Amino acid sequence: QSDMLMQANKMIALSKMAAGVAHEVNNPLASIAENAGWMKDLLQEEELAASPNFQEFSTAIDKIEHHVVRARKVIQNLLGFARRMEPAKEKININNLLDETTGFLDNEARYVNIKIEKAYADDVPVITSDLSQIQQVVLNLLNNAIDAIGKDGIITVGSRYLAKSGQVELWVADTGKGMSEAELSKIFDPFFTTKAIGKGTGLGLSISYSIIEKLGGTIRVQSAVGKGTTFTITLPKN
Ligand code: ADP
Repeated sequence: QSDMLMQANKMIALSKMAAGVAHEVNNPLASIAENAGWMKDLLQEEELAASPNFQEFSTAIDKIEHHVVRARKVIQNLLGFARRMEPAKEKININNLLDETTGFLDNEARYVNIKIEKAYADDVPVITSDLSQIQQVVLNLLNNAIDAIGKDGIITVGSRYLAKSGQVELWVADTGKGMSEAELSKIFDPFFTTKAIGKGTGLGLSISYSIIEKLGGTIRVQSAVGKGTTFTITLPKN
């Protein structure tokens, strides 16, 4: 069990780091590209075009542009790794997945007097999806729920089968501090965090969002300040 947790946490840490590096490097690259373009325009002006160094300048700027394109490709690959090319297609019992993932945090929750309750439907069919990616998302939601409660509260994890649409729903509800409309509108943005430096990266929910999107599902949230928050994920059966 602790091996699995370590593996899951390692994946989260790696994805966050990759996304963070990509973001930090993309901005300066954009600025370099913009300035190179501007220098190119300048070179077209008469005085500079007549300069004996015109050719050398022009070649240097072309090189800058060429290498910016190369660096951008490296970043794309890094992000591709973070989001993994193709999601796995394995048979998943959602209730088992929820049991296992909450199990990772049992001790931590007990320590701050948070009770984890389960509301599983027993008609939830086996789905075909990517186990470790769904686990990564649920772990993110549970960690956020623990942070939102702080001390003394209840986290409920549940599942439901939407027979009409053939989809499976799972949710994580907490009795934590909740969020205002203004906060809610930003939580899926990369780097949005209300947590202390070193505690939050603001990447958990943005990565979760892109994972669920890639798996063909949806993620939505309901929250009330002072009452709590519920994240609901819908996944296709196949
Ligand atoms: P991080 O946890 O690193 O801050 P996330 O992307 O996971 O990054 O979350 C972004 C922000 O959304 C959090 O800092 C917090 O303000 C808010 N948030 C997320 N989940 C909850 C929750 N269950 N209850 C209240 N606020 C939440």
